[in-house]
Amino acid sequence: MNAPVEQTDISETTEGGGVDRIRLMPLALANKIAAGEVVQRPASAVKELIENALDAGATRIDVALQHAGSTLIQITDNGAGMSESDARMAVKRHATSKIHSIEDLECIMTLGFRGEALASIASVSQFEMRTGMDDEHPAFLLRLEGGEEVDAHPAPPLKGTSVSVRNLYFNVPARRNFLKRPQTELKHILDAVQVLSLAHPEVAFTIEHDGNMLLSVDAEAEDHTDATAARLSAVLPIGAPENLIRVEESTSYLAVNGFLGHPDMARRTRGLQFLFVNGRWVKNRYLEHAVHAAYEYLLPEGAYPFFALFLDIDSRHVDVNVHPTKSEVKFDDERGVYGMLRAVVGKALGTTLGSPDFSRAKPLSGLDLRFSPDSTPRTASDEHPGRGLPSAGNSPLQGGNPGLDALFSGATESRPLPSPDRVADASRSLYEAAQRTETLPAGSVGPAASKAASGLGEEGLLWQLHDTYILTQILSGLVIIDQQMAHERILYEQAKACLKDGFGLSQQLLFPRTIEFSASEYVLLEGLMPDLAKLGFDIEPFGGNSVIVRGVPADISAGDERSVLDEIVDQYRAFERVERLNGRQNLARSVARRGAVRAGIPLSAREMRSLIDQLFQCDSPYVSPDGRPTMIRMSGNELRERFDRK
Ligand code: ADP
Ligand code: MG
Repeated sequence: MNAPVEQTDISETTEGGGVDRIRLMPLALANKIAAGEVVQRPASAVKELIENALDAGATRIDVALQHAGSTLIQITDNGAGMSESDARMAVKRHATSKIHSIEDLECIMTLGFRGEALASIASVSQFEMRTGMDDEHPAFLLRLEGGEEVDAHPAPPLKGTSVSVRNLYFNVPARRNFLKRPQTELKHILDAVQVLSLAHPEVAFTIEHDGNMLLSVDAEAEDHTDATAARLSAVLPIGAPENLIRVEESTSYLAVNGFLGHPDMARRTRGLQFLFVNGRWVKNRYLEHAVHAAYEYLLPEGAYPFFALFLDIDSRHVDVNVHPTKSEVKFDDERGVYGMLRAVVGKALGTTLGSPDFSRAKPLSGLDLRFSPDSTPRTASDEHPGRGLPSAGNSPLQGGNPGLDALFSGATESRPLPSPDRVADASRSLYEAAQRTETLPAGSVGPAASKAASGLGEEGLLWQLHDTYILTQILSGLVIIDQQMAHERILYEQAKACLKDGFGLSQQLLFPRTIEFSASEYVLLEGLMPDLAKLGFDIEPFGGNSVIVRGVPADISAGDERSVLDEIVDQYRAFERVERLNGRQNLARSVARRGAVRAGIPLSAREMRSLIDQLFQCDSPYVSPDGRPTMIRMSGNELRERFDRK
């Protein structure tokens, strides 16, 4: 074998006796480095090879494994196959038949496109590819070791391609040692094949491991939707296809198809939740949350519904080229997708389960839809009330203030969160409130409705005074809410909940950013990292006093990471000094202070309503985190007295 490439001397003496230190990497080394990204573990190789087979139009894909893929991964397909010259090209880096120009990258239709998988896999294994285009002409066999060709010759005719990857990482011992226990690696492989098989019911799949058949599903022949249901139920422990709830909805921006599980099929883990975007399986906690939110009253806490949803969106609105393994995507309007997904799932649940709270009340959550192209221009303040956790959607305050009235009718000081058995009652009263008051017609979601709702005074019941206070009428008088104090209370309780449950919504940055801090800031930040993670920051130390930010809470706009972290750290130190606050309480308060809408910021009617709405979902709506009042009330009596009315 050729000498290990890592040991290539990277410096070279030049004529003048100086030393040039920078040289182009040997190709084999570049491939090996790429392999680190693309082929993170046997499952990644399996995924790439199956995607190639799918791109080649295969209708049958057989996977054979030995030792959880560490000694053999073999993928055999009946797809288009390759000519000899194409086969030779295919194992070269950046060789791809799938895109030819920058424009193509904008609208990727195939699963592969980076042209790195075969080259990467071949560079870290003993690789063999047999490929042929029909049953008559000789096929072609190509063998490589560590990326170097060791054998090539004609082979018996064959339609399709069979790739064998032996002894993965045989030439990268460090990597090999990093493999997890065989059961773990095998599980990753099964998961990878599983999601691919869900997205391709028209293809038959088998998986054989050390001679045992682990999965065997036939190609589904029916029309696509039925085929998907059949495939889902053949592969996953979810019962018969008839029990699934179908989702089918499309707008010009987005189409959502797929299936939901009944609430009583919910599980304790997220294992049975699948999102696909343009045929590609993706991980996206933010959008998963949209589905959860639609189930909100139907599930107890800690229960996760089954869903398999296929989103189709014009490829110009979505970037799949975010990550070499392609499991993350970036939408140009993630909030819009969130809102629509939530509304669509809510509607499907409502229609099927026939409960009034879903079929009637839920479509109002469409008010949260933000379609970027033609929605009203956003001011900075526009973002605030929805911060991270979208508002509860339907509000008992809609158009009137029955919620406020109830609150001020002298009942309780703090409202306990609804427990699962009170949920039915809660949703009934929500429904009744929605019935009693003027609600927007269900169809009026989308850009037009948002526009209408953002015009001040639509409902005539909320006023903003000096861009600082919100005035609203209740049966017994007048309430004045301090927008900043109120918002701080909301954000404070949200942050506390995230810190407790560790479920801050995070969005991955397209380009992770490194940020440099002073030594003392850094030390503080380091201590806060686990908790910041819970709030939705994806940060890691990056050497010295810098950190790399890969993700931020879903509500922070890109480019803001620096100032947000800065301000939180600053605020934290101030609270530490002045109020001697510590730990999580301090962090929650710092985040709330940083994020709250300030005095002097104009709010739309919709924003005010959302703010009030969220305030009264707080445990302690009446006081700000530092104990100041969030609102004051003037009773009718008081007004009468002041005006000297009898
Ligand atoms: P990519 O899939 O990103 O194009 P790959 O390295 O995975 O890059 O594959 C390189 C090329 O090899 C593909 O573009 C395709 O033309 C060809 N190829 C790979 N696998 C197969 C297969 N199973 N059947 C037919 N062609 C294949
Ligand atoms: Mg590929």
